Amino acid sequence: MMINGKTTICGIFGCPVGHSLSPAMHNAAFASLGLNWVYLPFEVGPKGLPAAVEAVRALNMAGVNVTVPHKQQAAALVDQLSPAAGLSGAVNTIVNRGGVLHGHNTDGEGFLRALEEEAGLRAEAGPALILGAGGAARAVAAALALNGSPEIIVANRTPEKAAQLSELIRNRTGCRASALTWPAGPGQGGPGEGDWASVLARASLVVQTTPLGMGPGAEGTPPLPFDLLNPGQVVVDLIYNPACTTFMNRCQAAGARVFNGLGMLLHQGAAAFELWTGRQAPLAVMRDALKQNIQVRRQETGDRRQEGAGE
Ligand code: NAP
Repeated sequence: MMINGKTTICGIFGCPVGHSLSPAMHNAAFASLGLNWVYLPFEVGPKGLPAAVEAVRALNMAGVNVTVPHKQQAAALVDQLSPAAGLSGAVNTIVNRGGVLHGHNTDGEGFLRALEEEAGLRAEAGPALILGAGGAARAVAAALALNGSPEIIVANRTPEKAAQLSELIRNRTGCRASALTWPAGPGQGGPGEGDWASVLARASLVVQTTPLGMGPGAEGTPPLPFDLLNPGQVVVDLIYNPACTTFMNRCQAAGARVFNGLGMLLHQGAAAFELWTGRQAPLAVMRDALKQNIQVRRQETGDRRQEGAGE
């Protein structure tokens, strides 16, 4: 990589940011297309985001990704929001167009692209059950709802957050949405067993968005009544490290088609790359860079705490 007076700069704001796989993925993409661009990590503390976002404009950067814990605050700091960023209330990609900062959420777009590429499934295919109601769940729910999903059902450990997310989707889009009681334990539908049976009978898609099962040796799993899954039902776990979580194993044993979160990670990056450069993202190069860096991460025993964290 040759940096000179004409190099275009973009990067990522997060805290911590050292675990991020995005610099490797984007710099490999720039190099493969011969673009004089560079992507840098910036550790931005809790109070530093307003100044950092202003610096995107002041330094004439092409844009940045924004990651934990800044995605929601970033939505309040940009000049314009895309429909997905507005609905999810979170920005993971800022694009600087002549000093006007546009906020996007490519997490949801990345999820949809990966779903279609890997599972051959589109949002409109049928109802989706989302496990969890945090930032990733909001991005996935917003993307599904804005792209034709007929129904979204949310189940979360803290029921109020599931109710809030389903209410937001119901009130702001044409998508039906409801909340479901989080079961008491694996295989125990609890008081809402009938509801779980009916939801899993009609859902085309189940999305696991909690950090349960993330990191080496982690065996946690959301208490889904696994025996109610249908053969061939599509299940996506947003975790990508380990490549196969306990949750994925149990769903697969019940006959479901399971996918991890690597495709979403790749495609959220590809969508951001396309917004910044206007060029088609070199997916194969970006995928290789991700896989190589995940492999390196697995070998680094000192970095276990951060393994598998989303971008
Ligand atoms: P978040 O905003 O902190 O939300 C976490 C969610 O998980 C909440 O709904 C929380 O429930 C639930 N949860 C956390 N610990 C739990 C536990 N022990 N038992 C039951 N539920 C639990 O986090 P996030 O940003 O949404 O990220 C969630 C996961 O998605 C992470 O694993 C992250 O790495 C992954 N992710 C992947 C990608 C990708 O590109 N593949 C992108 C983004 C995120 P409460 O409301 O009850 O606290």
